[in-house]
Amino acid sequence: MAAPPPASLELRPLGGTGLKVSCVGFGASPLGRVFGPVSEDEAVASVREAFRLGINFFDTSPYYGGTLSEKMLGMALKASGVPRDQYFVSTKCGRYKEGFDFSAERVTRSIDESLERLQLDYVDILQCHDIEFGSLDQIINETIPALLKLKETGKIRFIGITGLPLGIFTYVLDRVPPGSVDVVLSYCHFSINDNALEDLLPYLKSKGVGIISASPLAMGLLTESGPPEWHPAPPELKSACRDAAAFCQKKGKNISKLAMQYSLTNKDISSMLVGMNCVKQVEENVAAAMELASSGMDQETLSEVEAILKPVKNLTWPSGIQQS
Ligand code: NAD
Repeated sequence: MAAPPPASLELRPLGGTGLKVSCVGFGASPLGRVFGPVSEDEAVASVREAFRLGINFFDTSPYYGGTLSEKMLGMALKASGVPRDQYFVSTKCGRYKEGFDFSAERVTRSIDESLERLQLDYVDILQCHDIEFGSLDQIINETIPALLKLKETGKIRFIGITGLPLGIFTYVLDRVPPGSVDVVLSYCHFSINDNALEDLLPYLKSKGVGIISASPLAMGLLTESGPPEWHPAPPELKSACRDAAAFCQKKGKNISKLAMQYSLTNKDISSMLVGMNCVKQVEENVAAAMELASSGMDQETLSEVEAILKPVKNLTWPSGIQQS
């Protein structure tokens, strides 16, 4: 007899943190209006729907929308009325509208500013945001020690690092005391067009860190409406993704659903953060996860889309400064 369909969205353990996060995480950068307009009402309704459908993990940053994402998320979390111990929030430090600053002084001040905007007493995870733009040695010797002190104050529970080039994670994790970094957040490296993160998973697991991946839709490349103006992908990648989206549409398939499901297949990744700015997207992305769990994915269309994207497989773009 076939296994019964799951009753609710899967929760996965996040490394050694003890947190059990929903496999679909709520990426709140769109609430900072980085992908277009979003009203306060829409933000509230999206977060409320996310809770209703079993999402318990929300990610933001002071950088998104120049602090707007944190403010909108904070307002929406409060409006939801859900008790604070029922969900997890991660925000970031070191990247701001004004530029990068990973100094101990700035990140220590940053958490107080974030907590005020989020209307929270603590965040579950504070992550150094896009560390390839700073000195990795400063992250190791100054920023992470400052965050360890913040842990003692109870303002943050766990420490993370984020960025695009995968080499930053090994550089830092090989040099920090074991247990000081709890979580890594990689983005745009576990989607149909780019799954370079897969090769790093055994290493990350050996270090005991929780693994979060973001941008299953490749920041809009794997959507019918396409990426925003600022998207940094090279033209050949944008063009191939456009072809893939058009192929799916012609076949009566939704490329975002396929991309979402693909990104959820590897359970070593605890949560896949997808940026959402309306109730419909929340419903579609959770439905994609539920359907994957109950009936698997559309392997035929996946193979066809993979064939279209093969010439640009794992093609990425430069990010950050040259590390000395
Ligand atoms: P994404 O791949 O999740 O794509 C988001 C875009 O897809 C938005 O325009 C959104 O409105 C749209 N979308 C979402 N669901 C859809 C659906 N069902 N159908 C059609 N379109 C849909 O990219 P992202 O938002 O950049 O990444 C997700 C989250 O991960 C961010 O919000 C952020 O929280 C986090 N993130 C962190 C970093 C970092 O720390 N350096 C980098 C990238 C993303």
